Amino acid sequence: MNCIFCGIVSGEIKSQIVYENDDVVAFKDLNPQAPTHLLIIPKKHISRLAEAQDGDAELLGKMLLAARDLAKKYDIKDFRLVTNNGKGAGQSVDHLHFHLMAGRRFLWPAG
Ligand code: AMP
Repeated sequence: MNCIFCGIVSGEIKSQIVYENDDVVAFKDLNPQAPTHLLIIPKKHISRLAEAQDGDAELLGKMLLAARDLAKKYDIKDFRLVTNNGKGAGQSVDHLHFHLMAGRRFLWPAG
């Protein structure tokens, strides 16, 4: 499988990792859309949220707790956490990820 984010998990592809535990990694987005723009991913390859299984519930919870921990680490009070599910929604990398963005105002509804 040729997956960029699996490459980041294995260390074959260099990235600026800011958080890691047994199940989850977070790193800086290569093309940041906000002053703080991190990607939170599961180490296990899941292509998108729609492909997650019931058995992934704990893993998905750990991704959310990573967002909480990162907000605390970076002293971020207001942030946006988003996942793009499918090309039509803007997904360009087929490995589940949450974008954690902060440091500017965000419009709602999202574009
Ligand atoms: P999405 O379009 O929702 O699938 O988001 C994919 C994100 O991954 C984009 O914001 C890209 O800038 C980011 N990205 C792609 N390749 C890398 C990489 N090697 N390191 C860090 N971020 C990346």
